[in-house]
Amino acid sequence: MKQSDQSVSGKTHQTDWKAVRDEFPALHQQVNGYPLAYFDHAATAQKPRKVIDAMTRYYEFDNANVHRGVHSLSQRATLAYEEARQKTARFICAKDPSEIIFTSGTTASVNVVALSWGRAHLKPGDEVLVTGLEHHANLVPWQMACAMTGAQLKIVPVNEFGEVSTDSVAEMLHSKTRIFAFSWISNALGTINPAHDWVQLAREKGITTLIDAAQVAAHHPIDVQHLGVDFLCFSAHKMMGPTGLGVLYGKKSILETLDPVFGGGDMIDEVTYEKSTWADLPYRLEAGTPNIAGVIGLSAAIDFLESIGWQNISRRESELLQYALEKLSEIPQIRFIGSPKERAGVISFVVDGVHPYDLGILLDEQGIALRTGHHCAQPLMRHFGITGTCRVSLAIYNTFEEIDQLDRAIKRALRLLGISQSN
Ligand code: PLP
Repeated sequence: MKQSDQSVSGKTHQTDWKAVRDEFPALHQQVNGYPLAYFDHAATAQKPRKVIDAMTRYYEFDNANVHRGVHSLSQRATLAYEEARQKTARFICAKDPSEIIFTSGTTASVNVVALSWGRAHLKPGDEVLVTGLEHHANLVPWQMACAMTGAQLKIVPVNEFGEVSTDSVAEMLHSKTRIFAFSWISNALGTINPAHDWVQLAREKGITTLIDAAQVAAHHPIDVQHLGVDFLCFSAHKMMGPTGLGVLYGKKSILETLDPVFGGGDMIDEVTYEKSTWADLPYRLEAGTPNIAGVIGLSAAIDFLESIGWQNISRRESELLQYALEKLSEIPQIRFIGSPKERAGVISFVVDGVHPYDLGILLDEQGIALRTGHHCAQPLMRHFGITGTCRVSLAIYNTFEEIDQLDRAIKRALRLLGISQSN
């Protein structure tokens, strides 16, 4: 076990990581007779008690629809919902709460932009630029928008380290490019892209920008005004909030030009049998009853992350990442996929001759939860000549002991698979 685990179990960097971990009920269970070691944070994060309690409280005491009722429960629900919007705006340094649109997730947020902005701004001869690292959520909607409008989709290539060079981005941003949509952190390889620099490059050429920040929101502060980005999307469930809730941030001046993608509910101003007019922002882009409990859960997740502090989060995650990289590097059968210089707490690897699912199942038998497959990044997997990887993704609630457990479990799995492992 790593020496500093002793201190991490106690007080390190003024954060009691054991106490932080204790706040996550799901982590305290046995799986197949082993303590659960959850390394699938990038797919969905575990939820702290405070998030679960906030949502339960809403359902137990305040459950009512928002914006429509004069009764007390509806007013309480509306207040909590709109306070959460304000908190989310502050969380990402948006100028105005009306720039925060609640959606069902990053995927929905990107789709709203691709459909609504795309329909209004793309035409034959235009180009949409994405990178070769994208999650399908920031690729497929653009393929659909291009098919609908006649625009062309261009891909900035990925190098052998799983990086996209800024020189390539600069070269591919040109007079035909209408939007540059990219992930800040790759979910498949952990690559951290220089989001601020890329947005600046695009802005210099008058190109609209969208950042997929799904893998960022739990790990790194976001300042949309400093970034200068036009649209930014993230999901609550990857930042210890609930599933089925996401955020679309857009600069007000741009959101105001978007036609709604969905009709009904609060998004109208006036409706006749013949036609409808739209409500002001943000409601015009939030059709139907929203995920009220989810929004309240997101608000609690923001409080939780902020109570720990970004510096502590970053230090903890990078210590865990370094330790995991060291341990896994000592297993000769492991081949890392991607070795980006700037990397978040994600490690993708394969064992040649072993299907990632088979390894994943043998690890699950030893209490290890990690991701296997293409990670919704099939073109990226194809670029590396593979169908999928095993992916370890780390969060502040992981421990060095769990990484030791992972190391032992991989070695045992390799022995069971008949792949000799001396140590
Ligand atoms: N973008 C990235 C980088 C992701 O990692 C994910 C989820 O894994 C998504 C988009 C899609 O998020 P959601 O499924 O919450 O819409």
